[in-house]
Amino acid sequence: MVNTWEVLKHGERLIAAIETPPTVRDLSFNNRITPAFDMLFVQSPNGNYILIIYMRIKITYTDRTNQYWTFIDKDTFEKNFREKVNKKWGSSNIKTLYNLSSRKTISLDFRFSLNRAAIFTYNHWTLNVVKLRKGEWVQSYVTSSLRTGDFDNNDFDYVKKSARTYQRGIIHEFGHMLGLDDEYNLGVHISDLESVMNSGETIRQRHRAVYILWLEKTLREKNIH
Ligand SMILES: [Zn+2]
Repeated sequence: MVNTWEVLKHGERLIAAIETPPTVRDLSFNNRITPAFDMLFVQSPNGNYILIIYMRIKITYTDRTNQYWTFIDKDTFEKNFREKVNKKWGSSNIKTLYNLSSRKTISLDFRFSLNRAAIFTYNHWTLNVVKLRKGEWVQSYVTSSLRTGDFDNNDFDYVKKSARTYQRGIIHEFGHMLGLDDEYNLGVHISDLESVMNSGETIRQRHRAVYILWLEKTLREKNIH
């Protein structure tokens, strides 16, 4: 069961919810990577719909020599994570095969419970975040099979990734947390440098496939139009 009380805001009416099971590979959308998040489809008091992608994340903060996490640093990291991921990956009106004849919109909202202690029995993800000096760069990565990520405080900085594209580590790595593969080393999108799973930050419709599939199924089953 999805703990809807953790996720829903006042007045939101739950229409459907699906939980990714706690065992790896149970809800894999492709062969290699297992996504780990809950999905909730709700109607807000104004009548519009919201697709919520929800992750419970445990964050471990790791100090480096002469680099220590303060409470303010941790708050800043978590605020940035919520805001910047949602601003880039979220949408005020996502496209589906279904055009709602009611002219209502479907927005896409990413919501997180970020825990510094193991409060919940199950977290979708465990992130280890290292404190680096300003300007220092270390490769961040997600290990989907273990549902872990290794990040740092500089992952919100833009890094030049090709002649004409810049990318923030957190924005790209979050795509892996949604179950998406890299595109810069293989596959048909290798020349699409602007793509978020390549060297840029542009979200393509293909990157939405994992949750659009469930959204369209829900719209069909609940006869929403
Ligand atoms: Zn990657």
